[in-house]
Amino acid sequence: MAATVSCADCRTAIAQSQSFFGTDGSTLCARCHAMREAHAQVERGRAAAYEEAAAYRGAVGLVVQAVKRGQADDEATRHHADLAAIRAAGPRAAEPQPCHRCGVAVAPADIHYALDGQTLCRACSITYDAAAERKKIEGNLWFGLALGFSLSFVGVAVVHALGRPPGEKRGALVGAGVGAIFMLVALRVVGAMAR
Ligand SMILES: [Zn+2]
Ligand SMILES: [Zn+2]
Repeated sequence: MAATVSCADCRTAIAQSQSFFGTDGSTLCARCHAMREAHAQVERGRAAAYEEAAAYRGAVGLVVQAVKRGQADDEATRHHADLAAIRAAGPRAAEPQPCHRCGVAVAPADIHYALDGQTLCRACSITYDAAAERKKIEGNLWFGLALGFSLSFVGVAVVHALGRPPGEKRGALVGAGVGAIFMLVALRVVGAMAR
């Protein structure tokens, strides 16, 4: 008889001959292996976009870089969420899973998913506020923007030091960049008036 192994991600029993290895050496079923590969592909795309953004130089380049990286982040987040949705739509784990919010055991057919992939029961999914959750994960772009603009790169350092959400970091960087351009323009104007 064929030896079976358990998939590290979904716990499904699979024939050893049909198992795959993850980059971390874990044993995976074909589906989970493809899923991990797809997530890795998204990250490679993000890395490529970052590299491309790094080609922009100067004060304006800094802003362009921040915007391009922000776009790449948004895109990666969307793709990861799409993959999570695809996974959720497919065959599910056979065992009930606890709701991340209220802890009640949820039958596989009734499992709902939060934005970050956490398991939710039906009742919790109804009261789940996706927009608020996204904001909590992403942070407030405008808060970061105001901080970066008013405190320049000190603002950027502050949001990083405080470990603020990615949206705020991005906002602070853009704010600081725009602030730097304003400063350059102001210096030119002052310089021209002093002449
Ligand atoms: Zn699996
Ligand atoms: Zn619940």
